[in-house]
Amino acid sequence: MPLKTVRDIDVKGKRVFVRVDFNVPLENGRITDDTRIRAALPTIRYLADEGAIVVLASHLGRPKGKRNEAYSLAPCAERLSQLLGKEVVFASDCIGEEVEQLVARQTPGSVVLLENLRFYAEEEKNDPDFAAKLARLGEIYVNDAFGTAHRAHASTRGVADHMQVRVAGFLMQKEVDTMGKALSAPDRPFVAIIGGAKVSDKIMVIENLLTKVDRLIIGGGMANTFLRAKGLATGKSLVEEDRVETARELLGKGGDKILLPVDLVVAAEFKADAEHKVVPADAVPEGWMALDIGPESARIFGETIRTARTIVWNGPMGVFEMEPFARGTFAVAQAMADTEGVTIVGGGDSVAAVEAAGLADRMTHVSTGGGASLEFLEGRELPGVACLETKE
Ligand code: AMP
Repeated sequence: MPLKTVRDIDVKGKRVFVRVDFNVPLENGRITDDTRIRAALPTIRYLADEGAIVVLASHLGRPKGKRNEAYSLAPCAERLSQLLGKEVVFASDCIGEEVEQLVARQTPGSVVLLENLRFYAEEEKNDPDFAAKLARLGEIYVNDAFGTAHRAHASTRGVADHMQVRVAGFLMQKEVDTMGKALSAPDRPFVAIIGGAKVSDKIMVIENLLTKVDRLIIGGGMANTFLRAKGLATGKSLVEEDRVETARELLGKGGDKILLPVDLVVAAEFKADAEHKVVPADAVPEGWMALDIGPESARIFGETIRTARTIVWNGPMGVFEMEPFARGTFAVAQAMADTEGVTIVGGGDSVAAVEAAGLADRMTHVSTGGGASLEFLEGRELPGVACLETKE
């Protein structure tokens, strides 16, 4: 069911409490990447233009429940003000009488950014009193922080219980609607590509996707555990011994859908300048380790991707941080960019890969939430989404 958004409600003159994700990387108090702030701009601009009093709340880093100026959101207020081209009032706390008065003094169209929510341990504990205090700062609740929607914290879950109106921001709407449609009513063929280091992190994703997709491509470190489950020698490759049986079961359940690499780039050591070569998947030499899919696998995976109508990708095909082992991952990114179908990239490393390849703009959707998108793909209900209103 599509989520109700800020566009579906009347916000004029109302105090709107907006959970955003301004968890940006900082170096000596300077923001090194403002993507997350930019991602929230459409919602903030819309609310301010419609005459709301916009109260923004976010966490930043892990201050462990204590005030710590190194994690202050003050630099975000400054950057947001530059991006919006208007004043952003920075509140030195996120709860309390002083903040309430500060918000009460604002006029329609103004934007306030609260100090880091995680200066209070109560935030992550979803403490009801803390949530009630946050709720005093708004009459309407908006969640635009997909990246934290899988966590039931005071600002993502508890605060919603105090609000009559609870809607999604535009970023949240795009995340949930795009991924929701892909999983519930995909244009077919529907292909998922799962990679990354470990099977253990993504068993639930694989199990859920197997019930939905036409093809499931498995690459990256985790493919080795599947190759071992098929009885192949894997040399020194990363294999989770305690998951070989699980991999065997998954192959039993979805063997006709699962595509594994047919060739691999193997290296003598886990090093960028290690000696390396391409071998068939059933001929990994003893003492060597697979660090990427081979060119024939990249070709087969690419063909499967190019003819699909919906493609979801989570996890790199190899150790793409090292140039000699990045080709498989970039080939998948390129195939996704080439296809006419709906392309969704979810999860930190695959997002980094499409960005490094300069192909992010050619994807239908690049998810901003690693953990949240993974839980979404697992078919789990996200607490930060479940508490929002739907259109019907
Ligand atoms: P994940 O966070 O589970 O998506 O895993 C991403 C990490 O998996 C990246 O840092 C990759 O370097 C790593 N990775 C991918 N393929 C392999 C492989 N064949 N062997 C070891 N690590 C890998």
